[in-house]
Amino acid sequence: MFDKVLIANRGEIALRIHRACREMGIHTVAIHSTADNDAMHVRLADESVCIGPPRSAESYLNIPAIVSAAMITGADAIHPGYGFLSENARFAEIVEEHGLTFIGPSPDHIRMMGDKVEAKRKMIEVGVPVVPGTDGALDNIDEARAIAETIGYPVLIKASSGGGGKGMKVVESADQLEGMITAAKREARANFGDDAIYLEKYLAHPRHIELQILADTHGNVIHLGERDCSLQRSHQKVLEEAPSPALNAKERARIGQIGCDAVRKLGYRSAGTIEFLYENGEFYFIEMNTRLQVEHPVTEMISGIDIVREMIRVAAGTTLSMTQDKVALQGHAIECRVNAEDPATFTPSPGTIEEYHPPGGLGVRVDSALYAGYRVPPNYDSLIAKLIVHGNNRNECLMRLRRALEEFVIGGIKTTIPLHQKLVSEPDFINGDYDIRWLESFVANNAGKP
Ligand code: ADP
Repeated sequence: MFDKVLIANRGEIALRIHRACREMGIHTVAIHSTADNDAMHVRLADESVCIGPPRSAESYLNIPAIVSAAMITGADAIHPGYGFLSENARFAEIVEEHGLTFIGPSPDHIRMMGDKVEAKRKMIEVGVPVVPGTDGALDNIDEARAIAETIGYPVLIKASSGGGGKGMKVVESADQLEGMITAAKREARANFGDDAIYLEKYLAHPRHIELQILADTHGNVIHLGERDCSLQRSHQKVLEEAPSPALNAKERARIGQIGCDAVRKLGYRSAGTIEFLYENGEFYFIEMNTRLQVEHPVTEMISGIDIVREMIRVAAGTTLSMTQDKVALQGHAIECRVNAEDPATFTPSPGTIEEYHPPGGLGVRVDSALYAGYRVPPNYDSLIAKLIVHGNNRNECLMRLRRALEEFVIGGIKTTIPLHQKLVSEPDFINGDYDIRWLESFVANNAGKP
């Protein structure tokens, strides 16, 4: 097992990884930018190294500085968390070239899944159903027209290197196709440095359902069930739950089997998430995330399995600590993402936290790096806390969540807690009756209302 792990991230996820390491008796090294001198992840880690100025490109994305920090402190391994360098295959390679272990999948698997066209092709090969669309990247407009006619409008243009919900365009009819392809290519080149795009069927009212996978280097592959992440704004997840209110045990077992078989055939290791759209009883693969997800705690709450710990074990060459028949999913869990944003307009609201009182009690977990007096810097993602609540069933979970949201005090800045408070009293949400479009109209209808 490792003696020392460098955590190449910040905020709540850096703390999350630190906690797993601490419980395993592993020392931790925090890295931070000058904007994060007083951050909690720096305070809790055994050692810390300042790796650059506030701008991410010069700090949390600065590969030479991060690898040097690992070498200087004598770390054995690097955990990238999510975001930043977590899906950068070149980073994983460089880490390995320096004799360090990357706590995650192989660079080849990161690269394969990072190219969404290639990922879809691979998934078809290993028997996973995908959204109907182009087989590869789009070459010309005639091909695009023909495919769009076959699958039927509306269609969605996606960037092969896209991510974070960016770079997608819905095309309603044939006359819009050419103009939107030109625009999509231009934007993809500007945002992702790659203008490859592809087309797929635009599903009208699907749910976003994703499968949590764990795989070791000894051929063991298990799944920990699904998460429902249909509540999204601008294609970004806002609230997640497990299990999905839409799946039954048979469907769960079916998609779990498909996912595990695929991952086994790919020879994948570590944690991974296979994302699907689910409509009319059918699953359609959209992408695979080759990293720890923001919403992993809902799965931990119903499975009792520490996903970060399993990632560390796998990276150290150990086997997973359980087999599929030992995975027992119990009860229900919901996660609310709390952002430093105005809850009505979603404009960022960085600043000093004047009061901080996280909720507690049975089944309540808060993953956050906040403390009273901390200044939320304006330079990074606005996620400041995740409230995760577990109950024996969905109803108990909802009652507990309502209670926990009432207790949660974050003073001095605006947060999205009021949005979650409204959401959890909404009949459609209470009934589990929502799809990926639902939240957008809920937000539009509630805009400006107290
Ligand atoms: P990203 O990597 O940018 O997050 P994804 O492929 O994971 O992109 O898609 C993000 C979200 O966009 C999905 O959760 C879903 O809400 C929506 N989406 C993606 N593909 C489709 C599709 N074919 N039809 C309808 N909505 C889609």
